[in-house]
Amino acid sequence: MAEYKGVMVYGEVMDGKLISITTELLGGGRRLADELKEDLICILAGDKLGEAPKQAIAYGADKVYTVEDALLKDYQTDSYVTVMEKVIKDISPRMLLLGQTAVGRDLAPRLAFRLGISLSMDCIELSIDPGTKQLQQTRPVYGGNARATFTSDISPQIVTVRQKAMSPLPPDESRKGEIAPIKVELDPAKIRTKVLETVKEEVAGVKLEDAQSIVAGGRGIGGPDGFKQLEELAKILKGAVGASRPPSDNKWVPESWQIGLTGKIVTPELYIAVAISGASQHLAGCSGAKNIIAINKDPEANIFKEARFGAVGDWKQILPAFADKVKELLAG
Ligand SMILES: Cc1cc2nc3c(=O)[nH]c(=O)nc-3n(C[C@H](O)[C@H](O)[C@H](O)COP(=O)(O)OP(=O)(O)OC[C@H]3O[C@@H](n4cnc5c(N)ncnc54)[C@H](O)[C@@H]3O)c2cc1C
Repeated sequence: MAEYKGVMVYGEVMDGKLISITTELLGGGRRLADELKEDLICILAGDKLGEAPKQAIAYGADKVYTVEDALLKDYQTDSYVTVMEKVIKDISPRMLLLGQTAVGRDLAPRLAFRLGISLSMDCIELSIDPGTKQLQQTRPVYGGNARATFTSDISPQIVTVRQKAMSPLPPDESRKGEIAPIKVELDPAKIRTKVLETVKEEVAGVKLEDAQSIVAGGRGIGGPDGFKQLEELAKILKGAVGASRPPSDNKWVPESWQIGLTGKIVTPELYIAVAISGASQHLAGCSGAKNIIAINKDPEANIFKEARFGAVGDWKQILPAFADKVKELLAG
């Protein structure tokens, strides 16, 4: 029987560089590997990996396995699951950490099924049980109203981790590590999907997931014009604008702005929820914010239970005064 050893991070690469969640997973994975006194391994797959393998070492990996193949140009379930199944069987890591990204959400469950093992998705905290060395996997449940910790005695243990749940280490270019290519035979006939077009999301300013300040609007904003005022405040705060589901469903804002259970998960320093009631499905996406400020005309709105500061009243009156005060304070 294989001996399962090491903490493996599945790294995602864009334009020859690691995406931010991979650097976070390497930071969190490093801590787990140190606790276990085992290696931190990074697996990278793609057609051109560029600087990413060296970057993975700078961010904490001891070993980086690379699979480079023209057939891996775009993420496709069939090819990537085949690669990862072989990698896991050959390397036998104790655990595999993936990001809770579009790729991680697709790859992790399929891989777990192929390997006949269990999986926890959307984890926000990972730790090692000192006795069993098993991974304790904490994730929100019941739409973010509670947390549950899972563990499994089947190896390897697979988890996807929420963005910003872990912190990257400061990159150290002088760190030494090993880069080892792996060859995986891919049969083009077995890849059942074809990527016809890739559309890059245009983001003016800060990306929602990376923003330290977010001004989010809900149904009570009333239409697309109201969001212009939210954009102005976001600009003053050098942040981004988000929304609850109704503005996105009503096409007042792009779908990519939706925050929540079926939208994005954000963890900014400051989250200003304007005319948002605070449904559990919305809070599932923003409850990791350090400070929530709520503006709502209903004093009983659920969002006030989560908020550190709140203002009760019509947002149309409160927001301009709030923005003026922020401008004044920032001007020093
Ligand atoms: C499976 C599932 C998944 C879901 N996923 C998501 C998700 O990802 N994200 C999400 O957001 N929702 C999601 N929802 C929907 C969620 O349940 C709520 O319906 C939604 O979050 C409500 O959005 P809201 O707070 O903007 O609207 P409402 O609940 O209608 O609240 C509007 C608020 O605006 C206030 N208001 C109105 N006018 C003003 C004013 N002039 N000034 C100040 N305040 C005002 C009101 O007092 C009220 O509190 C999901 C639901 C389901 C079933």
